[in-house]
Amino acid sequence: MGLTNQSTGISVLTEVFQAKVNAPEELVIALAGNPNVGKSTVFNSLTGLNQHTGNWPGKTVTNAQGHYKHKDKDFILVDIPGTYSLMSSSSEEEVARNFVCFGKPDTTVVVADATCLERNLNLVLQTLEITDKVVVCVNLMDEANRKKIHIDMDKLSKRLGVPVIGTSARSSNGLKELMDAVYKVSNKQLAPTPLVVPYDNIIENAVNLIEPHVARLVGGKINSRWVALKLLDGERTIIASLNDFLGYTLTEDEALLNQLKKAKEYLAQNGVNNDIFRDKVVSSLVRTAESISDDVVTLENKKYNDTDRKIDRILTSKRYGIPIMIGLLGVVFWLTITGANIPSELIATFLFWVEGHLTVFFQWAGAPEWLHGILVLGMYRTLAWVVSVMLPPMAIFFPLFTLLEDLGYLPRIAFNLDNFFKKACAHGKQALTMCMGFGCNAAGVIGCRIIDSPRERLIAILTNNFVPCNGRFPTLIAISTIFIGGAVSNIYQSLVSTIAMICIIVFGVVMTLLISKILSKTILVGLPSSFTLELPPYRKPQVGRIIVRSIFDRTLFVLARAISVAAPAGLVIWVMANIQVGDMSLLTHGANFLQPFANLIGLDGYILMAFILGLPANEIVVPIIIMSYMAAGSMLELDSLQELRSLLLSHGWTWLTAVCVMLFSLMHFPCGTTLWTIRKETQSAKWTFLSFLIPTVTGIVVCFAVTQIVRLMGLV
Ligand code: GDP
Repeated sequence: MGLTNQSTGISVLTEVFQAKVNAPEELVIALAGNPNVGKSTVFNSLTGLNQHTGNWPGKTVTNAQGHYKHKDKDFILVDIPGTYSLMSSSSEEEVARNFVCFGKPDTTVVVADATCLERNLNLVLQTLEITDKVVVCVNLMDEANRKKIHIDMDKLSKRLGVPVIGTSARSSNGLKELMDAVYKVSNKQLAPTPLVVPYDNIIENAVNLIEPHVARLVGGKINSRWVALKLLDGERTIIASLNDFLGYTLTEDEALLNQLKKAKEYLAQNGVNNDIFRDKVVSSLVRTAESISDDVVTLENKKYNDTDRKIDRILTSKRYGIPIMIGLLGVVFWLTITGANIPSELIATFLFWVEGHLTVFFQWAGAPEWLHGILVLGMYRTLAWVVSVMLPPMAIFFPLFTLLEDLGYLPRIAFNLDNFFKKACAHGKQALTMCMGFGCNAAGVIGCRIIDSPRERLIAILTNNFVPCNGRFPTLIAISTIFIGGAVSNIYQSLVSTIAMICIIVFGVVMTLLISKILSKTILVGLPSSFTLELPPYRKPQVGRIIVRSIFDRTLFVLARAISVAAPAGLVIWVMANIQVGDMSLLTHGANFLQPFANLIGLDGYILMAFILGLPANEIVVPIIIMSYMAAGSMLELDSLQELRSLLLSHGWTWLTAVCVMLFSLMHFPCGTTLWTIRKETQSAKWTFLSFLIPTVTGIVVCFAVTQIVRLMGLV
């Protein structure tokens, strides 16, 4: 398996080149920066696009491109993955460096975080070594002001030798000035003279030995000092990409090769081997960043990070971290379940009132019974159920989840689970990819690119489906509300449903860890690699944007997907229920065929069929179950959730059925989109097949065990 160039961004290079060919007058702007500095926010504000933003490092793993116009020029803006350095020790670094070096951007904008400038300057300095055409965007100025951190922008610009613009991208402050600066640099109205990072004498002498020869060979196509440094460093991937870019092998030049040998001998005589060379380079960069930062940053309040640290000491403590996490999850579910009940009822009542009128209309118009059946009892009814059962919980759950994401809580979850993942011989960042899976498993699978080790990345991909996505959450919430909560008296309903939800999610996490462990002891043997997980500062969430984003990007997206698949599915099921083969409908034949197996795992034939038919989109499983039951004879006038419960009961549902449906929903094959994404990411049919098989077999085994134990104990 491989994280291919195709998947990490070289394809965007090709796209950008193509865009340049089609519109040569368009200027290419690369947007670089450390993770979580607001790069995507800048990108979205300038291009009007909608790249995922969120308060945690590692969201942007691919290059995205968008367009904007400023004054008389058109620009292509390319958002490259967030990275701390361009030394290419990880795939993000490689993608970022390749774009800055070889994508020939007309300007590279390096976005830096005003609240921790020193650390961000490292990337700025490395970029300045590669290209002159740089604009530094110091973002999060509002946060810095709040923390009483002052930055002297003019001085910073003088020290770096390139334009520096302060911005607060979230409120679009400073973006016009940023576009002006980019315009000037791209159109050569302003020629920056970047700072040259000084290295110690030994390195400078070695560079001087080869740089003239490099300059002769590269002829201004790329910064010769930087190339000289890379040749001395001997880092193979960079040199290979460089040769590709130039179209010839640098070291085939005799004179350069001789000088390079001399320079290396000189370094060796002075005790500088490859490791020491790198150390010296890195420490010079750090020292320069420190000196600039000391010069331009004034801290009015040196303890500005104390509150964050205090909160973190509690939220990530060994004792309270996990209970608080589960508690928060509980609060989110409780609010969702309690809040969704009433609107669900209201919407159901309204939509079924409309159904009554539609029926009257069809009768009045003299429409044939089959047409009424297909359109009203088939398609409309399914849609009505999808909307009333799924819309309210989604409209509450997604904003709450996005709120936690924007606050910066997700990396804390990863931090709390880090130890468990290490014990499972997997990567701590897998917890972050899991959090992404809560939104959408396909996104979670793409997000696994933040894990560098191929082994650990595969484990994360194969187990991502154990966390329920947007499409499965409404199913789980609906079943736990209607059935599990519905089984107890009124006052405890929400509480019991919430507990059921918490248990199912915790179970999903436990299964993720267990399967990860099994994989790393069998087909993906290896030890966990170490890494430091970064805890970003807590940020004040933007409530308005959260609501808009979660309603439009998530709720309506999921609903539209459910409706677009459920309506035709409703039609198919209605037709299947009404075509008789022998003395039974096609639907009943199908369900009867699956029944014996389904019964073993606590489901019934209709439910299993719904899961199979739900392969294109998980959202439609519950609607199909309801449709099948209604079409299978009992044409109840369902107009409330309570009646929905009666419908399920009349088809033999017990609490065990509900539990098994929830478990199987948590653990079965990924949806079509996710499987397709896994195929693309792993470039392998074998791993795609395994990612289908592993959760399905696990689900069958777990449901079988639960069913048999409960039945043996005579509990149902
Ligand atoms: P990226 O990882 O660099 O692409 O960062 P994002 O664009 O996703 O932003 C990270 C977080 O910082 C998000 O929660 C943004 O809403 C927030 N953010 C971005 N720019 C600003 C800003 O100027 N001020 C404040 N307060 N927050 C910002």
